[in-house]
Amino acid sequence: FSRLNRRPIAAAVQQSQNDEFVLEDVPHLTNFLPDLPSYPNPLHGSQAYSIVKNTFVSQEDVVAQNIVIRKDSPRGVHFRRAGPREKVYFKPEEVRACIVTCGGLCPGINTVIREIVCGLNNMYGVEDILGIEEGYRGFYSKNTVRLTPKVVNHIHKRGGTFLRTSRGGHDTQKIVDNIADRGINQVYIIGGDGTQRGAACIYEEARKRGLQVAVAGIPKTIDNDIAVIDKSFGFDTAVEEAQRAINAAHVEVESVENGVGIVKLMGRYSGFIAMFATLASRDVDCCLIPESPFYLEGRGGLYEFLEERLKENGHLVIVIAEGAGQEYVAAEVSAANEKDASGNRLLLDVGPWLSDKIKDHFTKTRKMPINMKYIDPTYMIRAIPSNASDNIYCTLLAHSAVHGAMAGYTGFTVGPVNSRHAYIPISRVTEKQKTVELTGRMWARLLASTDQPSFISSDLEGVVQDINNDAVRWEFLW
Ligand code: ATP
Ligand code: MG
Repeated sequence: FSRLNRRPIAAAVQQSQNDEFVLEDVPHLTNFLPDLPSYPNPLHGSQAYSIVKNTFVSQEDVVAQNIVIRKDSPRGVHFRRAGPREKVYFKPEEVRACIVTCGGLCPGINTVIREIVCGLNNMYGVEDILGIEEGYRGFYSKNTVRLTPKVVNHIHKRGGTFLRTSRGGHDTQKIVDNIADRGINQVYIIGGDGTQRGAACIYEEARKRGLQVAVAGIPKTIDNDIAVIDKSFGFDTAVEEAQRAINAAHVEVESVENGVGIVKLMGRYSGFIAMFATLASRDVDCCLIPESPFYLEGRGGLYEFLEERLKENGHLVIVIAEGAGQEYVAAEVSAANEKDASGNRLLLDVGPWLSDKIKDHFTKTRKMPINMKYIDPTYMIRAIPSNASDNIYCTLLAHSAVHGAMAGYTGFTVGPVNSRHAYIPISRVTEKQKTVELTGRMWARLLASTDQPSFISSDLEGVVQDINNDAVRWEFLW
């Protein structure tokens, strides 16, 4: 792999001569600030790492995006493996790091903050770490807070973000001015797709100005819709917490005649939480997600299926992702096309809409009274602290980010690719969203588990085809 070294940063996608191996490389500060020294990694002498067999990750270790390939087929896209490097770019005593959190809440943000601070301090001896409060605009409108292992020691036990957050207010020039003025040379940015786009702008501007600043993004999305990486932090916790809401709905509807429970879960454009919560629960009769168009009336429609289930079991539970059925609600509600402070289109509330539709259909059209129980646990799920597996995952993400920034990588995000942590160019995770593949195995498992209609009538097949062509090709590993 010696040919992988020292790629020009402009070309993120690199191809070998025989087209078999593609490295999507992350920029390295030495690429645009030549001849700067590399220092021995302080982990050399550390108690924790001195007993590790292979302490350092080679510059040439890469992670394959396609883990299942046919014999003799091209080996495809690879990313640099995350982890500590033998030489670091920054002297620990010269590091001034900052952390910022933007966008909506998600379980685990505080664990990531804690582990960046503790990782920098315990592994590398970095002491100068600043917290930027209230998102991007905090760079130029707020004072910073000093972060030490002691200050962040217990924050992982709380939900939310210790540094608070905001939407809107991204002014690249002002942010980079502020980074330069404060002498910050490592920027850790925790946030969703919008935040990562903002991080890419900061990286570009810092590069243009020739600043010696490492920009590291840690992708945050409760919806699990970030491309390339296996899973986003907080997702496991969200699925687990969603079980409580589904269970509550099930208990309610089982106790009454013709009980219909609707649980609305997060998932603006990707139905992963709804799909996984449904698969985990086994109490769900029908799962509706944004990727899968559904229809209410007629043969194979939702009403027909619900009536069958009610007659069979006397109750049923529907899980609907917030982004499902938006086209129906938009046709009936006037508030379509409103935007939030970051410019994201505000979704119309499909939960109450579907509840009313189903209530009307059964009571008025079918003359069949039902007991509707509607639960929207969104804010309860977003606000809880992360569970054990997410806590461990957040620790790995934070440490990978710290190792990457210390080694002088910049303009990268971290995350597991086929369960190996990798450094991924930011642009690669913002260009597309990951969505549930309707022709993938996991959705087929869900359909088999709930026995719900697939809603794919002959006139919808073309739509599904289009959706799957647009979707990031992504198969589950198990
Ligand atoms: P989530 O959607 O998971 O809540 P997010 O990071 O996508 O998180 P947004 O509110 O869309 O949340 O964006 C967060 C921050 O990123 C805001 O400060 C916003 O101004 C900034 N931002 C969003 N999109 C861009 C962009 N294209 N370029 C620069 N900055 C952006
Ligand atoms: Mg977003």
